[in-house]
Amino acid sequence: MKRTIAKYDLLKYGDSIGVAVSGGKDSLSLLRILNEICKPHASKLFAITIDEGISGYREEAIKICENFTEELNIPHHVFSFKELYGFSLDDVIKLRKSKVSACSICGILRRRALDIAAKELKVNAIATAHNLDDILQTFMINLLNGDIDRIKWLNPKIKPRSEFVIRRIKPLMEIYEKEIAMYAFLKGTPFQTVTCPYMNEGIRSEIRSIINALEHKHPGIKYSTLNSVIKVSQELIMDEKELKVCRACNFPSSKDLCSVCKILEMVKKHYI
Ligand code: SF4
Repeated sequence: MKRTIAKYDLLKYGDSIGVAVSGGKDSLSLLRILNEICKPHASKLFAITIDEGISGYREEAIKICENFTEELNIPHHVFSFKELYGFSLDDVIKLRKSKVSACSICGILRRRALDIAAKELKVNAIATAHNLDDILQTFMINLLNGDIDRIKWLNPKIKPRSEFVIRRIKPLMEIYEKEIAMYAFLKGTPFQTVTCPYMNEGIRSEIRSIINALEHKHPGIKYSTLNSVIKVSQELIMDEKELKVCRACNFPSSKDLCSVCKILEMVKKHYI
């Protein structure tokens, strides 16, 4: 992780970092390692948990995060969809009539929730626990969905193009998911093992199996694909068009109405 941080210049002396912690092995390991790395460099850490409102799942995760951050002596803040948007993810799913997956809605709203949390806590970077496997799966999902524009977000050096958006870093992006799992076990990190009830709605699980099968047969293919992801995302950044501002919330958007406000409007009309 230190090598990735140095290679892509992810952190600076004295940075104040909001670490997104979900209660899973990746985010708790990220917090543990950042805590070790950052302490000698006067960087401040805040743990941020987004409570999407997924009953029977998120409650346990919040408890785990609370206990773990207390053990590390790191301030922990919870921001919920209910407080920020007026509804939980479960509420939206009850209204849903289209085939849009829970993860698509959740991902869009959570990204914005993290930006709001980061602004409120006055951090200048948000660290997320995306590992090498996550990056490759997201790349493939975006490619298959025709969401080419989102591929640029996978670039480690992408800079925020608006004061509303905080710099994002992914220090685990070059590390295999299974190595992080082993690290969490060896350190005795008490992470959540229950999975989200919506996790099989999208195609991520299928893509994970395909990429794992390829890596098994052709060891190293994950790293070479990561290199391609970085190059493609770099090209997309260079080709960026000027950003507009969403007419409803003033956040940067490629369209007149950003995807968050589009979801909020649909929820208001009870049609999503
Ligand atoms: Fe949200 Fe999907 Fe993750 Fe569940 S699996 S927390 S719905 S992104």
